Amino acid sequence: MLSAECYYFPVPTKKRIAVVPGDGIGKEVVPNALEVVRASGAAVEFTTFDWGADRYLADGTTVPADGFPMLARDFDAIFVGALGDPRVPSNIHAKEILLGMRFKMDLYANVRPVRLLDASLCPLKNASPDDINFTVVRENTEGVYMDMGGNFKFGTPDEVATQEDINTRKGVERIIRFAFEYARANGREKVMMSGKSNVMTYAGGLWQRVFKEVAKEFSEIQTQHMYVDALCLQMVREPRSLDVIVTNNMFGDIITDLAAALQGGLGMAASGNIHPGRTSMFEPVHGSAPLIAGKNIANPMGSILTAAMMLAHLGLKAEAQKIESAVLDAVRELKMTVDVGGSLGTRECAQWIAERVAK
Ligand code: ATP
Repeated sequence: MLSAECYYFPVPTKKRIAVVPGDGIGKEVVPNALEVVRASGAAVEFTTFDWGADRYLADGTTVPADGFPMLARDFDAIFVGALGDPRVPSNIHAKEILLGMRFKMDLYANVRPVRLLDASLCPLKNASPDDINFTVVRENTEGVYMDMGGNFKFGTPDEVATQEDINTRKGVERIIRFAFEYARANGREKVMMSGKSNVMTYAGGLWQRVFKEVAKEFSEIQTQHMYVDALCLQMVREPRSLDVIVTNNMFGDIITDLAAALQGGLGMAASGNIHPGRTSMFEPVHGSAPLIAGKNIANPMGSILTAAMMLAHLGLKAEAQKIESAVLDAVRELKMTVDVGGSLGTRECAQWIAERVAK
């Protein structure tokens, strides 16, 4: 008979990644980003899913039955390209896939690192990489995105429309705690909460109270509050003062586009949709950009940096670091696509980065 010590439980050695390239430029940038990850030697295996407009138009499927539980059960992370296609004007497939992942898998923290790789990418005068290096933590499952509201006397001159902004104590507390934990884990010094509590008094009041309470558990981290309009000004006038910013779903959506502009545009920005301890999803910030799709001109750097962020999240920090340094080299050596001042195509840019990573 075997003693207990002899039992052998095989542990998967490779991290399992579900890949959803999606639509438009997602289908171009994702395979290129995967090539870069392969070049890094990261112990990962990819399984690609054809969810997106083509599949929806072919057989009406947005997400197959059991899709979300399957992702949570069988994969360590999900890597998404972009979703959205003019042939599906309602974008129902994009909503069901992307919002489905966020809501049904409860990926409550949208994390957006905002880092300027090179001064040449920034539209601000005299801004250097030291000036722009902060992270936005956006609440991802509540707020006005819950689609609650209604119309009264629809279509008449007396019409009334309401849109509810949902803020639960649990939801507010966990995103604020996430921001502090993130700051602590990443050696950040400050957490700023941003909102509009002078106008949205009930929801803003809840955020203010919870922020003060949670902050007590993180005495080494400085705290700050700024109204979101003032924050927009600050992001342009004095971005160096920013560190970790936590905010609600709607304000997060708006300020992260401004943040993307500071780092060189939508083509450069990475994001993660995270629930600690669960299968989380990583996607570049840009959409499917149908106008430039299929032309080999989309910037692959946002998706490559997103892949690096995913590897770091999975504990593959050395590989993530190699990829980030290679992207930095590409920027410095102008091995970039035209949107950021280079002359390479999507494939050529990603190939250059993959070769640099493999060196
Ligand atoms: P969606 O509805 O899916 O969000 P969209 O075209 O409205 O698509 P984005 O995809 O975010 O919005 O892109 C807006 C514009 O930004 C694009 O038309 C394109 O000019 C530019 N853009 C976005 N991503 C990239 C990229 N990776 N490379 C180059 N340009 C990009």
